[in-house]
Amino acid sequence: MAQKKQSVIDPFGSTVIEDYQYLLEEFGIQPFQPLLNKITKPNMFMRRNVIFGHRGFELVLEAIQKGQKFAVMSGIKPTGEFHLGNLMTAREVIYFQQQGGQAFYCIADVEAYQDNRLSLQDSHQFAIGNVADLLALGFDAKQGIIYKQSTEPRVKDLAIILSRGVTLATLRAIYGERHLGLYLASLIQAGDMLMPQLNDFDGPKPTVVPVGIDQDPHLRLTRDLARKFRDYNFLAPSSTYHKIMKGLDGSPKMSKRSPMSYFTLHEDNEAIKRKISNAFTGGRDTVKEQRQLGGVPEICPIYEICLYQFVTDDQDVVNTYQACKNGTLLCGEHKAQTIQQVLDFIREHKRQWRNHFDEATAIVDATSP
Ligand code: SF4
Repeated sequence: MAQKKQSVIDPFGSTVIEDYQYLLEEFGIQPFQPLLNKITKPNMFMRRNVIFGHRGFELVLEAIQKGQKFAVMSGIKPTGEFHLGNLMTAREVIYFQQQGGQAFYCIADVEAYQDNRLSLQDSHQFAIGNVADLLALGFDAKQGIIYKQSTEPRVKDLAIILSRGVTLATLRAIYGERHLGLYLASLIQAGDMLMPQLNDFDGPKPTVVPVGIDQDPHLRLTRDLARKFRDYNFLAPSSTYHKIMKGLDGSPKMSKRSPMSYFTLHEDNEAIKRKISNAFTGGRDTVKEQRQLGGVPEICPIYEICLYQFVTDDQDVVNTYQACKNGTLLCGEHKAQTIQQVLDFIREHKRQWRNHFDEATAIVDATSP
């Protein structure tokens, strides 16, 4: 019998996924691919199976198809500069906003305080930069709602109300043994996901929460709570799940604990070049072997950052995969191409970021009392 691979999902710790198929079966997550041909304009994450799973996305899809109201909600924990995981989530939120969704972007400063011990003052400064990134990527702040958990009374009120629907035993079962602040942060997150359905925002509606798979425990808790509080007529929020990017150093996940495993959109060019140049690859030990046997893009973080973020044309991704497999593309050459693509993207992004910085400052300052 084939041995199942180990997977750990922990929104407050280290998530390791070895087998996405196993994950779908183990946690009852629906595969995303069967929905693909029903989506008129799938984004590149959907087309490339980077978004691999969902819970209840059919509801949102139906609303999009019928031109009915729906919302998209996600956000950022403001603990530093925008990294590639934040980039993916922001692009997903913007995609759904452009499909007609009422968009909510949460600055999760309560979670940053509880999980990372970051003061609300310090996270405020990070949030300004993060919101400038979001705006630079195309989020329409006039149509959307950007808010902070610590100053949004509706989210905190919902957390208080929802807390009646969950026991400590359930929280322990979902999150493991944690300090009370993290359980509180998870209820605040439930408030984030349900706020778009309050009457202040035009009442109950399908809501999609696009996140990394490590956030699924929050979705399970919130979907369960949404069904319990019938007076509100909440629809259980839907989710889409993207895969977790491998670390550049070959670790299972990009992580702030390993600086060589990731880069941010605001690091200097030399640091980014060095990290990509030194990255682990799926290449062979010698050029001769690689020419003969081809590389292994399936385990290669360089291939992954191209597939997930930096190569916009699907056919270019296919060509790269094949060139790697048949040994015509070598790792040195591919790393040099990737450095160029990443730096080109970042140069333009930083230009847009500077253009939006004052607007971001005004938005985030307005969230302070
Ligand atoms: S050629 Fe590119 S995709 Fe293939 S193993 Fe080397 S770096 Fe990775």
